[in-house]
Amino acid sequence: MINKPWGTLAGVRPAKLIHRLLDQGLDYTAALRIMQEQRKMSQSKFDLLWNICQVERPFVVESSQPHLFSLYVGIPFCPTRCLYCSFPSHSLTELGKLRGQFIDALLQEIAETGALTQRLGLQPYTVYIGGGTPTSLTAEELERIIMALTIAFPSRWREFTVEAGRPDTLTSAHVDMMAKHGVNRVCVNPQTMHQQTLDLIGRRHSPEDIITAVAAIRQVNIKVLNMDLIVGLPGEDSKMVEESMRQLITLAPENVTLHVFSRKRASRYNEVQADFTLPSPAAVVEMHNMATAVLAQQYRPYYLYRQREILGGLENIGYAMPGTECGYNIAMIEERHHIIGLGGGASSKYIRPDFTLKNMSSPKDVRIYLQRLDELSKRREVELLAIRGPLS
Ligand code: SF4
Repeated sequence: MINKPWGTLAGVRPAKLIHRLLDQGLDYTAALRIMQEQRKMSQSKFDLLWNICQVERPFVVESSQPHLFSLYVGIPFCPTRCLYCSFPSHSLTELGKLRGQFIDALLQEIAETGALTQRLGLQPYTVYIGGGTPTSLTAEELERIIMALTIAFPSRWREFTVEAGRPDTLTSAHVDMMAKHGVNRVCVNPQTMHQQTLDLIGRRHSPEDIITAVAAIRQVNIKVLNMDLIVGLPGEDSKMVEESMRQLITLAPENVTLHVFSRKRASRYNEVQADFTLPSPAAVVEMHNMATAVLAQQYRPYYLYRQREILGGLENIGYAMPGTECGYNIAMIEERHHIIGLGGGASSKYIRPDFTLKNMSSPKDVRIYLQRLDELSKRREVELLAIRGPLS
């Protein structure tokens, strides 16, 4: 009998299992039987995964070509640290003085990696500048990085995302510069549209800042806007989530990523959790059901991942209007092609021909990243040479 929707599945990337079954040519009925018998998965979670895999499949097949990779550039600075964040970002007041040295080091990594991948016949499929909050840097600083990327990786890539997660960091100079350089996907992440919650979780912006940032992006030719929301934030109830959803839908983002609050070990929440009241698991499931039902009216789910301490045993789901799915997110979750991570706290995945992989992370601390730059470059070369063969 199924009493947990995900059954015995503990992994964070359940769609990988379905893709393996699709690789073997299994159809819906055969795959469902395996997931129910071996993993005790509910029909509803299987159907969600199956539908996601149908959307992902063309990306998975295309991006599995051995000459393709995705590039991730990590900018580990944020204006402040969010309550739930375990990401290794530095607040600008804490380590912002290192940003000049960080940018110089990153430009060196970009140039070296561009030369290496060209020699190995590798081409970028997608490029993603994340963090942290890349727009914590000035438009001029970010432009130096983007120009270095276009020089180091001269072949065209299909998708170019920049995260501007904190709307208060985004200026019209950022927006104009990104449009000029071909950025075609930008993330502005409200998480909630309630000021009291934003204050509680340590984000130094208002709901109005979100609306202003979206309006600025809509003035230029950036095709896809992604917006993140979190279900299960401290103090929020179903009515509040519904209100945030309503406001977000009015802004008509092409992508919406619906997260569920997760009690991450390295987060500030974990240190001070007694000060916060989280909704009950049942309430979180109810809010999540409401939010997914609203999103299903205009969007389709296109990628999914789980986290160990996620409330209600739920999952994070990326939604997209058809034709606007983010190839980088699919590549990152389904692990079918290399992710080369540059910058602070960036993860790299080197994928072998049998789709086993080697994970590597750049140091989280900018000071250590600066010290270990040469070693990172060497390890990258060793991993890629091992997979692509020696240089001629
Ligand atoms: S904006 Fe993102 S990376 Fe920065 S502190 Fe908040 S959750 Fe972490």
